[in-house]
Amino acid sequence: MPRHSVAMTAQTADDLRKHLIRVDGDEDLCFATYSTSTGATRTTYVLTSVVLPEHGERDVHGNASFTGDFVLRAADIASSRGEGIALLHSHPDGRGWQGISHWDRDAESSYANLALGLTGSPLLGLTLAGADMTWSARAWLDANEPMWAENVRVVGRSLRVSWNNRLRPPAAATVFQDRTVSAWGDAVQDDITRLRVLVVGVGSVGLDVASRLAATGLTHVGVMDMDCVEEVNLDRMIGATREDAAQRTPKAEVAKRLMESASTAHEADSAAYVSSVTTAEGIAIARDYDLVFSCVDRAWPRAMLNQLAYSDLIPVIDGGIGIDVFDDGTMRGATWRVQTATPGLPCLQCNHQLDMGEVQKERLGLAEDPEYIKRSGRGRHQRQNVAILAASVSAGQLAQFVSLVVEPGGEGVPLPQRYLLGPHIQEPLHHATGPYCRFEAEIGEGDRRLGLL
Ligand SMILES: [Zn+2]
Repeated sequence: MPRHSVAMTAQTADDLRKHLIRVDGDEDLCFATYSTSTGATRTTYVLTSVVLPEHGERDVHGNASFTGDFVLRAADIASSRGEGIALLHSHPDGRGWQGISHWDRDAESSYANLALGLTGSPLLGLTLAGADMTWSARAWLDANEPMWAENVRVVGRSLRVSWNNRLRPPAAATVFQDRTVSAWGDAVQDDITRLRVLVVGVGSVGLDVASRLAATGLTHVGVMDMDCVEEVNLDRMIGATREDAAQRTPKAEVAKRLMESASTAHEADSAAYVSSVTTAEGIAIARDYDLVFSCVDRAWPRAMLNQLAYSDLIPVIDGGIGIDVFDDGTMRGATWRVQTATPGLPCLQCNHQLDMGEVQKERLGLAEDPEYIKRSGRGRHQRQNVAILAASVSAGQLAQFVSLVVEPGGEGVPLPQRYLLGPHIQEPLHHATGPYCRFEAEIGEGDRRLGLL
């Protein structure tokens, strides 16, 4: 059963709210254009621009109505960009996910075939409930019956998700989660535990992140890693056994096993993918998720996830550590950083965390070439992690997760954070978006994203 979802930036949501929620309390409507982001099992419709009515194109009289010219103008804008159209209206007193009234159904179904004919994409219907700003959405693949979205994601320095309770009911809280719920309340817990979160890379950091998400009660955490456990991993992967190393158990399977034993959910449904986001299959799986943790140190997968954050509006919480070693093998220091790639904050490349030259070398297979490694002067100690400091990175990434989805203090996710071990200083980094950033220029592009595979 294919799943459907809608995403928009916080900026777009704000523009829509200003138009749809009127001071006189009447309903209003407008159109928007959208691009499509195709995952392995989920299609996400990503709103790209708002088309507000011009004079005479709509009439507000309790229930708003609109002219055929307005539809044609919106469809014209959309089809010139290869996009679809969404019809949006408000229920000023509505609260929670809205069903469709007879009026909604008539209006949307009567334009479903026209929109499909003019743009080649299904008409999307969205409703904004004015009392609590919950969005609801459906896609009219034909004019008879809409396909309901499972959620609507508003993505910026916070991730606010409106849930379709019928398709994605809240998980029943268990007695094991009492202390967790006491930190932020039932409503937030209901939202968090429904999020589909993917952890890419389950070495020392990713394994810790995945286990803690499971312990928090998240019902669906996916883990993705191509590698198998080796003996040299055992001093970093807490919970992997000598038996795993002997059997070469996939790291993703170990993470799944540890999540299952840590989970406090009534019914958890975790998934292990022995795959990579640098493959078409792997990145399509990532597009099925609401949020991704990047716990890999290679440049190419991080570039793929950096793109996902902007083109597909799936926030990516990234972290990394570098341990500096003197030539004689003694420790000089260590630096770790955590940052979230999301519209409203500069991307990993603009944060100087992504070297596109390295991405290109990895794509060409040079990163594995011993000759190349020797010539580039990268020793075997480069960027190694150790168990005793890995928790600092996972702690930083999990704190960014809490800021993103719980918003304590109403602040949302902070600037990138850097910790210098020598002097023990933690500091925010004030990088800005570069003038030629290709990633942030791709916000909402969906399947039109530039190729990085
Ligand atoms: Zn950027």
